Amino acid sequence: MTNQVNFGDELVSPEEKTRRVGAVFSSVARRYDVMNDLMSGGMHRLWKDRFVNRVKPRPGERILDMAGGTGDIAFRMARRGAEVTVSDINPAMLDVGKERAEQRGITGLRWQVENAEQLSFADASFDAYTIVFGIRNVTDIPAALREAHRVLKRGGRFYCMEFSSSDWPGFAKVYEAFAANVIPRIGKAVADDEESYRYLVESIRRFPRPPAFRAMVADAGFARAAAEPMLGGLVTIHSGWKI
Ligand code: SAM
Repeated sequence: MTNQVNFGDELVSPEEKTRRVGAVFSSVARRYDVMNDLMSGGMHRLWKDRFVNRVKPRPGERILDMAGGTGDIAFRMARRGAEVTVSDINPAMLDVGKERAEQRGITGLRWQVENAEQLSFADASFDAYTIVFGIRNVTDIPAALREAHRVLKRGGRFYCMEFSSSDWPGFAKVYEAFAANVIPRIGKAVADDEESYRYLVESIRRFPRPPAFRAMVADAGFARAAAEPMLGGLVTIHSGWKI
């Protein structure tokens, strides 16, 4: 059958992938934050701090945090005075984010359900676009990158952080074994949901390597597309500029 896409290691129709990714995040939403800490040993907090340091949000800037989930990136950018819109395809993730924002007294965020592939925002609406650990879940990644380009103003910055396979010899093997065997088990023990966490691991393994993804960012029209590996390449920050 043509036009099939990967949902983890399985081949499914594009519609089925979008539906099943939705089910994964609806299922993990309430446990998402504690699972992030367990799966990364707390490292995701450092990666996110570092990512926001690269974005350098400025007071009054309009930033779209796409696939923003429960708000980790948006909160960090709002604290620096940016006007952040948090968008995600999944209302359950955004609901958890809104509750967390309220608990922490973070105000002024806009929350909007959106599919990254087809945004409702006007052309040239934002100074920066961020997407963290989100794009590998999107069914049509080139469409999402084109939309990112469209909604950015001239001079607007694109930033994406995503897992990538490590190139460090030895470390890559240890990480692969941890990801394939340990993460789904933690998912079962903590969230009673082995399948969702198996999908997350498979989707990380299948995401394009940094040079290939950098080429996709350039194909969407971004100038100076760059890929900056962190921590031996476990995570990569991609960036580009709309001219
Ligand atoms: N950015 C947040 C973070 O770093 O904690 C959340 C990342 S979470 C791993 C991935 C998010 O991507 C989920 O909230 C999911 O609903 C969202 N997502 C998946 N496909 C999407 C799409 N097509 N459009 C918008 N969001 C999508």
